Amino acid sequence: PDTPVSTLLAGAATRFGDRTAFQHGAERLTFAETWRGACRFANALRERGVGHGDTVALHLPNCLAFPVAYYGTLLAGATFSPANPLLPPHDLAHQLADCGASAVVTYGPVARALAGTGIDLVVVYRPSGEGQLDFETFCARASEVPPDPGVDVRQDLAHLSYTGGTTGRSKGVRLPHRNVVVNSLQYGCWGYGAVPEVDDAGNPVLDQVGSEDEWPVRLGEGIGINLTPWFHAMGTIGSLNVPVLAGGTVVLHDRFDPPSYVADAERLRVTSMGGAPALFAALLACEEFHTADLSSVRTITSGAAPMPHEMINALQRRFPDAVIAEGYGLTEVTMGATLAPSWRSGRRKVGSVGVPTFDTEIRIVPAEGGEEPLPPGTPGEVCVRGPQVMQGYHNRPEETAAVLVDGWLHTGDIGVIDDDGFVSIVDRKKDMLIYKGYNVYPRELEELLMALPEVASAAVVGRRTPEAGELPVAFVVRAAGHEGAEPERLLETVNAQVVPYKRLRELRFVETIPVSAAGKVLKRELRDQLT
Ligand code: ATP
Repeated sequence: PDTPVSTLLAGAATRFGDRTAFQHGAERLTFAETWRGACRFANALRERGVGHGDTVALHLPNCLAFPVAYYGTLLAGATFSPANPLLPPHDLAHQLADCGASAVVTYGPVARALAGTGIDLVVVYRPSGEGQLDFETFCARASEVPPDPGVDVRQDLAHLSYTGGTTGRSKGVRLPHRNVVVNSLQYGCWGYGAVPEVDDAGNPVLDQVGSEDEWPVRLGEGIGINLTPWFHAMGTIGSLNVPVLAGGTVVLHDRFDPPSYVADAERLRVTSMGGAPALFAALLACEEFHTADLSSVRTITSGAAPMPHEMINALQRRFPDAVIAEGYGLTEVTMGATLAPSWRSGRRKVGSVGVPTFDTEIRIVPAEGGEEPLPPGTPGEVCVRGPQVMQGYHNRPEETAAVLVDGWLHTGDIGVIDDDGFVSIVDRKKDMLIYKGYNVYPRELEELLMALPEVASAAVVGRRTPEAGELPVAFVVRAAGHEGAEPERLLETVNAQVVPYKRLRELRFVETIPVSAAGKVLKRELRDQLT
């Protein structure tokens, strides 16, 4: 559909107006209030000369100002560029310069970090210092009449997002309006029990079809607690645009405390639980999660990192009637490219991230280079083609040319596709180890470790040696009640199940495994511990 992203909120304000869209502690915003706030923010930006062709950076934690500023920026015709609120000042300054932001919305305690960055307009949510331009005051005087964003939805950027930086310096990803609308529809069709449609005016809508038994959650009835940061692709699409499209209520928690998450989930009768696998690992380890009345939960959605098979099984045992949905993606495809179970048949296959989302093609090509697709069952680099694929990296033509070939995005992930079109992610290309010329995929060893009762979580990285290449080393967090577990025994158990060149050479017990804000294991930090 060729409409700007702001139509998602405009549509929700019409369809679900008085329903709570966002809730943060005792404060809430209905869909209609969010829409009116966005209109005011857009008009306030325009009054200050910020609009089409400009970039507005949002340097905010998840809070009620975020959706207002997000949709308001897009409604003004400007580009939204999200910044991790925990970025150190130097990295923030670098990102703001890279995206060419002319305005920033930030929050009280860190507003000072922006001094000296040369940004003309700094709007502060809940200011904590003198002379800061207060977000509420900034919006209050502006008109509520919706402006016309005036964008070319296929060319003009809605998002200038930055990759997670898990494997190196993060890169700006150029995502036009159409990418965001399409990817929201591609995921809205699942979990919220609806199929995407376009109405007579060409606006995207989700329409529920079929009986209540067929669809896990009715439109306008979903409710979920969100901890995924909105600055990350999975947050902006999966936990902001998709719930808006489907009229779902998003409840914000400032930090993840498993017992209070569970208590709120029970009290609010949540229908959906979503997040990275790290969230579910912590919930499964929390006693209350197993005893609370969570019978309202109908969908569990996961993405951003591999979901261990054992975790899917444990969640399915806990919620026998709920649908466990997994998506695979990366910032370069707006958010996602696959869905499990299949949106066509409802089928799922253990270990697979499902089938391509509608209007999306996936093929596997040789990891060492070449565009000729490999036959089913052969691992290689995952390539994606579809309307959600980025326009390119921002100001990085060479890096863009290296990953975008004839519309096919080379993802940097190793995967395999089966005869039925189901995709499995084997590992990241950059995480693959080469030992004496053999490829070793850490994820296979991590899965074997995580299947052991003594192991709560595990990550495998390579120790470089001059003679043999990279030797696999495991970092393991022991499961509660298994404090006496011995490294030798775990090594033996895993190594008995793999061919000799894949054997783990060392196992270290650690208290925690470092993860990024988006819930991805930071393997470079683990590698640093080995040097
Ligand atoms: P950078 O590219 O800067 O190193 P990043 O790759 O973490 O950062 P993101 O776009 O946030 O940037 O993450 C995308 C990556 O996350 C994918 O390439 C893939 O490796 C991993 N990923 C996402 N979803 C899944 C999934 N369901 N299963 C396995 N891996 C996943």
